[in-house]
Formats: sequence, C-alpha cells, structure tokens
Amino acid sequence: MIRENLDTIRQTIPTNVTLIAVSKTKPVEVVMEAYDAGQRIFGENKVQEMTDKHEKMPKDIQWHLIGHLQSNKVKYIAPFVSLIHSVDSIKLLAEINKEAKKNNRIINCLLQFHIAQEETKFGLSIEEATDILKSKEFVEMENVSVVGIMGMASFTDDQEVVRQEFRTLEHYFQILKSHFFKFNDHFKEISMGMSGDYLIAIEEGSTMVRVGSSIFGSR
Ligand SMILES: *Cc1c(COP(=O)(O)O)cnc(C)c1O
Repeated sequence: MIRENLDTIRQTIPTNVTLIAVSKTKPVEVVMEAYDAGQRIFGENKVQEMTDKHEKMPKDIQWHLIGHLQSNKVKYIAPFVSLIHSVDSIKLLAEINKEAKKNNRIINCLLQFHIAQEETKFGLSIEEATDILKSKEFVEMENVSVVGIMGMASFTDDQEVVRQEFRTLEHYFQILKSHFFKFNDHFKEISMGMSGDYLIAIEEGSTMVRVGSSIFGSR
C-alpha cells in the first residue's frame, strides 16, 4: 500500500522536485515500508519523535525537521539533521549555528514564511526575513547555510487562494535571491506543497514537497 502510494506520487513529481515523506505519528515499522520502497528523505515535526526514529532506523536516511522548533531543543537534532524547514527567528538561527559549530557541521536551513490567512501559523514576513539576512549577526554565522524558504498555504478548498499564496512565496524567494543570494548557488529551495496541494505548489515553482497522508494514510 505504502509502496503503491509512493510510486503513484513519484509519477506526478518532476525529477527536479524533492519528495519529503512526512512520517510524523507513524511507527518505525510503517515508516520502514517507505524506506524499503526506496524513500530516503523523511520529514518529522517533533524533535523527540525524530531523534527516536533516527536512532532506530538506517543511517542513510536524511531527516528533515518541518515543524516548529524551540531553541532549547536544537541540541538534540544538531548532530544529524539534514534540513530544518522551520526557521522563523534570528534567535533560533543563532542557536542552530552554535550547536552546528559544536558538532563541527554546517546545518542547512529554510526560512519559514507566513503566507496563510490563519493567524496560528508560524512564520516570518518578508520584512522580518530581510532584517535577519542583512543583520551583522547573521552575516557572521559560519555554521548555518540558508538554502531557501518554506511556507504552508491556508487550509481551504479554494484552490485559487492556495495558488496565490504559493505565488506569493515564490515571489519572496525571487526577492531574497536577488538581494542576498545572487551569487550563492545553495539558495535554491522552495519548500511548499502537502498532500492536498502539492500539484498546485509544483506548478507555482516548488522544489520540495512535504507529503504525509497521501503516502502513509490519515493520521
Ligand atoms: C504534517 C505536515 C505536512 C504533511 O501534511 P499531509 O497533509 O499529511 O501531506 C507537511 N508539512 C508540514 C509542516 C506538516 O506539519
């Protein structure tokens, strides 16, 4: 079932788009079915759950943290995390830089933007992101690499609303690329799109889709 779901989704995703299998709440045996079907990139939204699975599962997996991250928990994932999608403050970025340094690593990060209508979602505005990127504190960080941006669209059936939000995120990407990363080839990722909207996200320029329930079933 999971193998079939993965095959179906892979057929709809261009080769330049990375599929992140969102395995949150699913036990190791179930996540291993996706691993056995060739999937190597998994997304989790909780630090404890991600470290547990990292310990128990094969070490060639790339673990992506996609949920809100508290500064005091960065230390638990710094030794192994492959990409943090949810950076929404300079404070968090500074903590990631500090823990990455301790681990002699450079940790890849995405800046998370608030693009949805709902109040509750985390994320930066374009002004806040710009303030971070031009700050002396950020420029001096040697152990983080900002490789792109992330956002979540509104929970709505209105596909035009979702499309416009993805378009806004893609526009933010272009602004930041031209102002701060013109000569930096690493800044190239737009993480947008989930089970319900990843096809729209790809049409609007997504390079990473985070798909959970369409692979593993509902939670
Ligand atoms: C849970 C989650 C997903 C996956 O959602 P599905 O609708 O199950 O595909 C994607 N991104 C984030 C940030 C999530 O928390």
